[in-house]
Amino acid sequence: MSLETLTGKSLIGRQECAEGRRTFLAVNPAAGSAPLQPVFRESTPQEADRAFVLADAAFPVYRAQSAESRAAFLEAIAEELLAVGADLVQRAGEETGLPAARLEGERTRTVNQLRMFAGLLREGSWVDARIDRADPARTPIPKPDVRRRLVPIGPVVVFGASNFPLAFSVAGGDTASALAAGNPVVVKGHPAHPGTSEITARAILRAAEKRGMPEGVFSLLQGAGKEIGVYLVRHAAARAVAFTGSLRGGRALFDAASSRPHPIPVYAEMGSANPVFLLPGAIRERGDEIAAGLCQSVTLGVGQFCTNPGLVVGRDADGAQGAGAGDSGIGKVLEKLSGLVAASAPGTMLHAGIRDAFAAGVHRMRGTAGVSVAGAASAQPDPAKTQAAAIVLSTDVRTFLERPELSEEVFGPSTLVVRCKTAAELEAVARGLDGHLTATVHGTPDDLREHRGLLEILETRVGRIIVNGYPTGVEVCAAMHHGGPYPATTHSHFTSVGTTAILRFTRPVCYQGWPQDLLPPELQDDNPLGIWRWADGKLGK
Ligand code: NAP
Repeated sequence: MSLETLTGKSLIGRQECAEGRRTFLAVNPAAGSAPLQPVFRESTPQEADRAFVLADAAFPVYRAQSAESRAAFLEAIAEELLAVGADLVQRAGEETGLPAARLEGERTRTVNQLRMFAGLLREGSWVDARIDRADPARTPIPKPDVRRRLVPIGPVVVFGASNFPLAFSVAGGDTASALAAGNPVVVKGHPAHPGTSEITARAILRAAEKRGMPEGVFSLLQGAGKEIGVYLVRHAAARAVAFTGSLRGGRALFDAASSRPHPIPVYAEMGSANPVFLLPGAIRERGDEIAAGLCQSVTLGVGQFCTNPGLVVGRDADGAQGAGAGDSGIGKVLEKLSGLVAASAPGTMLHAGIRDAFAAGVHRMRGTAGVSVAGAASAQPDPAKTQAAAIVLSTDVRTFLERPELSEEVFGPSTLVVRCKTAAELEAVARGLDGHLTATVHGTPDDLREHRGLLEILETRVGRIIVNGYPTGVEVCAAMHHGGPYPATTHSHFTSVGTTAILRFTRPVCYQGWPQDLLPPELQDDNPLGIWRWADGKLGK
């Protein structure tokens, strides 16, 4: 669609709706929050009801589609997103301040995610088929025939995320995995990029029409306020919620869903400081290189990644303890990192609210007794361009252990370096951590052997442990786990990135004593779909 034809309306099934009295505008954060046309109308509860009536009606039709049909639908969405051309990236750039190259990369990721789930559906084994055949002769009691597989759950509410206007928004990983599983999707668009949401939603709806999908398989509700989001989560027809954003928002939606007469799961991915541990041998061998890698990871995308390394915990080299010891260990990295950050350029943040939250978070950190500024970008951020400047703070291990709030996420380009002297102190820091998405450890083979205890503690605190790398840059693949114990997410068992993200929107059903011809094909003896299954304790086809 051309940018001139943006309507500002919600797209409910095949209808365009604009009944709400409240309106809002997108703004360009890089241009003094200059308003962008058109005017968007906030959805009403009645419009949300209509989206759910359609989604509810679409569910039995959509879930009954073959895997091939759903796969072709996902691929058609990918094609439509590519066919939109430059308009999508242009509007997303205007609404978010993100550079075109980043957004082109994000579109590629979005398209690849959709195709990845199409491939998963065609292969078919994701339904986790398990078969235990009957043994009537078993004593003392006969064994029944028991089989199970995963099935879709019903309409899923997806909240678009501000920091991935394509890959975690209207057609992002949450929508792709929910649709792949066989569920209709109702999206609450993020108010910071409503035009991008509309363009994307129209691409999905075109794909739905071309592939003959039922009306209501997808709807987009626009909104800039808490009411519509809470209304969707509390709606009787909603079966699950996917969210990426603030701890406060995710928690509010989780609480709303939990207090429903029929509670539903909220898969919320929220705050994470992604601690990075630096061990002495690694610092000695490549301290400067690590500092450069950290600077790049902290400032990437103006720090607006959920995997941004907001906490660095370093150990001085053995035998270098005492006065001046830090200069040969973590102190060396801190000095180099501070210099690099001082030379970094301020960048435009996604919206003024995020910029203000970053400023408040840094102010809170700086004001904590025992925390000092080690380095800050020397160039001043331009408020008219919604800019933020990177900063490195430092503290000692004692202060850090006494102030648990220092490990909370400050969303943006900042990091706090904690100086330790012993392996025991590193372990104490790790033990004091709340849940995070990731932890990273830089160490030589000897370092890693010596700090095995640290690695074991980290396994209890995070969802992904990276050795000698950086947490930003999440590979989209089958083995990825992008999740972590609360408050990183509300369900640490599940990932929002990679093929197993589909599991969030399914539930197992067990079929006991069923005749062959009534069983779903995934569970029939002759395995007509040729999928991998656990049958009588053995994995096979
Ligand atoms: P947000 O404030 O959490 O909002 C995300 C979405 O949830 C928006 O659609 C918002 O609706 C809705 N929402 C938030 N609180 C709600 C509530 N109490 N009830 C109902 N709906 C609610 O996130 P954001 O606007 O993207 O950024 C704000 C902060 O979130 C950032 O400063 C950062 O700290 C954090 N954040 C974290 C990540 C991460 O990956 N960890 C990513 C993005 C943002 P409305 O805006 O329409 O009210």
